[in-house]
Amino acid sequence: MSSTPLSPRLEVQNLRRVFDGQAVVEDVSFSIPAGQVTCLLGPSGCGKSTTLRLIAGVDRPDAGRICVDGMPICDETSYVPPERRAIGLMFQDFALFPHLSVAENVAFGLKGGGANTRARVGELLEKVHLSRHAQSYPHALSGGEQQRVALARALAPRPRILLMDEPFSGLDERLRDGIRDETLGLLKDEGTAVLLVTHEPHEAMRMADEILLMRAGRIVQRGAPYNLYNAPVDRAAAAFFSDIN
Ligand code: ADP
Ligand code: MG
Repeated sequence: MSSTPLSPRLEVQNLRRVFDGQAVVEDVSFSIPAGQVTCLLGPSGCGKSTTLRLIAGVDRPDAGRICVDGMPICDETSYVPPERRAIGLMFQDFALFPHLSVAENVAFGLKGGGANTRARVGELLEKVHLSRHAQSYPHALSGGEQQRVALARALAPRPRILLMDEPFSGLDERLRDGIRDETLGLLKDEGTAVLLVTHEPHEAMRMADEILLMRAGRIVQRGAPYNLYNAPVDRAAAAFFSDIN
């Protein structure tokens, strides 16, 4: 894929998805430049995961357009399958392969087993502070360590975009902020464009460059965390942000 210099890394235009006659995602538009973390924030059931699945390509929109680096990957005339989108995914259940070592898990998405693969795996394990666990198996690791392996695995092939769906919700509450900060450091270091789904305002405030506030399938407000917190669009948004712990 060639890239146009001024194109955002990810651009979503007027996305719509209907289930059983109900629009679950309606007129959703946004863009994310390389190196930015955008949080799609909203209550359970508002359409966040559906939006992510459309971008990943595991589900098709009823209308709208998705472009990566200015090239359409999904519109009326084009549809690039998920495995050719160069989009990384990370979900709540890290789904590490139990029969593969930590190093093998991280190498999974890389082509071939040569020196480049070994170097990339080594580099990422160092960044997530797991070099000494390279030959361990997932069951021997703590939840936080498994999460870091999953992050390294998702980043290994240098995806153009990383989609993260509630990636911290399976973790012990007391560990989450530390892991959020570490994750953010690594994401910034790698320069990936990230769309992170969460229902926790606190998480979005802590991690996002930009927040997209979603409600009933629509984006009702967007902006820097500070702006959404200080100038909520309506009472419901104010109540939502007032829960921050
Ligand atoms: P969120 O991730 O914000 O919690 P989802 O995107 O998972 O919300 O779901 C939004 C709405 O769409 C929910 O009401 C859910 O029940 C509905 N939904 C999601 N996937 C399907 C599907 N495959 N078929 C029918 N309804 C669905
Ligand atoms: Mg969801």
